[in-house]
Amino acid sequence: MSVPETLAAPLIRLDGLFKSYRLPTGDSFDAVHDVSLQVRRGDAFGIVGQSGAGKSTLLRLVNLLERPDRGRVEVEGRELTALGKRELRLARQSIGMIFQQFNLLQNATVFDNVAFPLRLHGSRSRAEIAARVAECLAIVGLNDKRDSYPAQLSGGQKQRVAIARALAPNPSVLLCDEPTSALDADTTRQVLRTLADINTRLGVTIVIVTHELEVVRFLCRQVAVVERGAVAEQFALAERGVRRRTSLGRALQRLVDHPPEVDDADAAATEEPEPVHA
Ligand code: ADP
Ligand code: MG
Repeated sequence: MSVPETLAAPLIRLDGLFKSYRLPTGDSFDAVHDVSLQVRRGDAFGIVGQSGAGKSTLLRLVNLLERPDRGRVEVEGRELTALGKRELRLARQSIGMIFQQFNLLQNATVFDNVAFPLRLHGSRSRAEIAARVAECLAIVGLNDKRDSYPAQLSGGQKQRVAIARALAPNPSVLLCDEPTSALDADTTRQVLRTLADINTRLGVTIVIVTHELEVVRFLCRQVAVVERGAVAEQFALAERGVRRRTSLGRALQRLVDHPPEVDDADAAATEEPEPVHA
């Protein structure tokens, strides 16, 4: 039986998270300070803020790449902060992640990069792995690159390989840390379209950290503005014409209320048969 959306538990629930780093001077620095937020299943959730605001730290707390000093992290109803090593490794299979610098294995082909997380978790046959890799490469439109090495690909293609790799274990959420910040405008659009497609067509929840407001406008339905390690405001992008509390929030709202003209030319461009889908 399906549960009405409003009653369903959030996919991600962060409660009272604190994280500080020890500096070489011996002092400690509060990178994340009392953050609580919830991400609904199927959402595309943006986290924006200036450089150094604590965005990456906050994102890395979601899959416990960083351990919080205090607070709770819950994903799909499981409290990750209470799990042991082995259980956490299993739980992380439902949390994919991509990075600004792609983090591909340079000496492995595209196929082997995407197969990597599947081989790591042992239980699949070679044929099953090959089939899943082909599926994921089709989703990002790169089946023809399966035997290429990362050095032979453009930045946008590398990021799409990273997306395919993150999707391979069939995660319910994809964490994205500045995924387009190393890319030019056209390539950024391609990668954003791929992410939008994964969100709307495959139903994968997306949490994306960025300092680029246009990325949030294009992709997200919900946004949190982070300032000095704390959530300064959160709102739904569909809500028009509201005065926001932070200057970033106001800038984003202006962008939402007056989207850039480039969209028209762009809409025409989407009629081209690219990328290829599964
Ligand atoms: P953002 O992603 O918003 O740029 P980060 O989460 O990377 O911010 O960093 C937040 C703050 O924490 C920054 O001031 C940064 O210098 C500091 N910081 C991040 N990682 C470490 C670390 N491993 N050791 C010490 N300080 C860190
Ligand atoms: Mg960062």
